[in-house]
Amino acid sequence: MHEASLVAAMAEEIRRLAVAEGAQKVTRILVRIGEAAGVELEAFDFAFLALKAQDPLFSEAHLEIETRPVVLECFFCGHRQEGELGRPCDQCGQIGLQLISGDEIYLASIDLITGDKNV
Ligand SMILES: [Zn+2]
Repeated sequence: MHEASLVAAMAEEIRRLAVAEGAQKVTRILVRIGEAAGVELEAFDFAFLALKAQDPLFSEAHLEIETRPVVLECFFCGHRQEGELGRPCDQCGQIGLQLISGDEIYLASIDLITGDKNV
């Protein structure tokens, strides 16, 4: 996955919210990224720094990334476990685990500064 395009898509979503709120600045962004989402966190962070440098809306924004564990459910016995894809079930030893969560990327919350009404 391409982190720069993920950041660009996130920026557009935030911009829509900021415009809707009449906000001038974004101060904090919390993104949840699953460990199986295929996102390189350093690259994501780097792309975000580039965005900050280019876009005044994000110039004071602090990015927080919360990683989410991979949760798998066994196709055979229904046992749920966390961990990597491709591992056998801890309970019955079968290989047939399905991803329940951990491949998501979403904007969990943002903090905005709304404009000074005196200006
Ligand atoms: Zn099992």
